[in-house]
Amino acid sequence: MNYEKSNSYFKKSLELVPGGVHSPVRSFKGMPQTPVFFEKAKGAYLHSVDGHKYIDFCMSFGPLILGHADPEVEEELHKAISRGWSFGACEPYSLALAEYILSQIPFIQQIRFVNSGTEAVMTALRLCRGFTRKSKIVKFHGCYHGHTDSMLIKAGSGLAGTSEASSLGIPPSVANDTIVLELGDFSGLEECFQKFGRDIAGVIIEPLPANYGLLPQEPAFLQRIRQLTLSNDSLLIFDEVISGFRVGFQGMSGELQITPDLVTYGKILGGGFPVGAVGGRKEIMEYLAPLGNVYQAGTLSANPVAMIAGLTTVKKLTPTFYEELGNHSFRILQILQKYFNEQEWAKEVQLVSAHSLFWITLGSNPIQNVQQIPADLPLVFQRIFLEFLAKGIYLAPNAYEVGFISHAHHQEVIDELEKRLWEK
Ligand SMILES: *Cc1c(COP(=O)(O)O)cnc(C)c1O
Repeated sequence: MNYEKSNSYFKKSLELVPGGVHSPVRSFKGMPQTPVFFEKAKGAYLHSVDGHKYIDFCMSFGPLILGHADPEVEEELHKAISRGWSFGACEPYSLALAEYILSQIPFIQQIRFVNSGTEAVMTALRLCRGFTRKSKIVKFHGCYHGHTDSMLIKAGSGLAGTSEASSLGIPPSVANDTIVLELGDFSGLEECFQKFGRDIAGVIIEPLPANYGLLPQEPAFLQRIRQLTLSNDSLLIFDEVISGFRVGFQGMSGELQITPDLVTYGKILGGGFPVGAVGGRKEIMEYLAPLGNVYQAGTLSANPVAMIAGLTTVKKLTPTFYEELGNHSFRILQILQKYFNEQEWAKEVQLVSAHSLFWITLGSNPIQNVQQIPADLPLVFQRIFLEFLAKGIYLAPNAYEVGFISHAHHQEVIDELEKRLWEK
């Protein structure tokens, strides 16, 4: 593989852009290799500026459940663009998307569209605090909820129950109102509610944590959070920015039959365009401006082009679609497992998967929280990543990111994957 053009682009980027990237995980940090630059993408493939074609298992970190540049979405986008691309006024396209989603997900009575998952979470947290008139938010170590101040918080190193910022630039006063617990820790959860229940506005969790490896939780843990939030007049926020429309149309809420008070979406909802959303019961959602006193707004919110991309995408997510996607995923995981089993150096590899998400990790024990992740994972992952890259298979460039399979990873691509893996 040749990386000449990529290398020269990255060198220039480093001068113009901090770290050469506009989102940190793209930087190949910790890899003895500069980032590959891509110039186009189609179906399951990314095409690099150096003329190579990669089978993509990063898929823009989640939105592209249909694959890159789906022809139907493309056609609708052409029509949408010919009508103009931002009105800053009411239009029927977001209405159609809202109507479709609410018709398919009965526990959401109202939805508001924003421009990213981060914004969706910010809005959900403000709503949660506005509705309950309480301040503290409980989150879990290893769950990612975007880059808003109050979510970039880790457990403090001092007294139990203290928190500190995990990024510079976040005042201690913000950290004070976020409580961080370990995933799957029932007793920590009970203790937290005993101690702070009166002040807890809400609990936010990825019901299928997929941002620090893939850490499937016991349904009983999520059920216990639901009970405790109910009995303490706190809200439950499911952050389904990854799991929504991915593990099924209704996300984990539908799969587990647990109804959160608020749910956040992003990624798939925009079909590759910047869209996020917060949804929930009407009595809570109506706290949002202009009806209520919880302020939220956006110049480009519900942008008609993004709405059409989202609507066309989610309309394709039928039960048959999920079944086919599940079949592709099953075959791909079988092949990857077989490959790792055959490599002396990769015998320890464990593939954790849920529907069309997978995570390459080590060992044979189930991994449910960050502390259980084997410490030598980054080293083994680095070898896998570089080997795959050399074979024309692109993974997210970080051991703690999950892999994404799309509907475009069909049999032809699966055959090609097999060929590339075993090719000398
Ligand atoms: C990606 C993600 C976010 C942040 O979304 P952005 O669009 O990157 O701001 C929030 N929560 C979860 C669960 C995510 O996976």
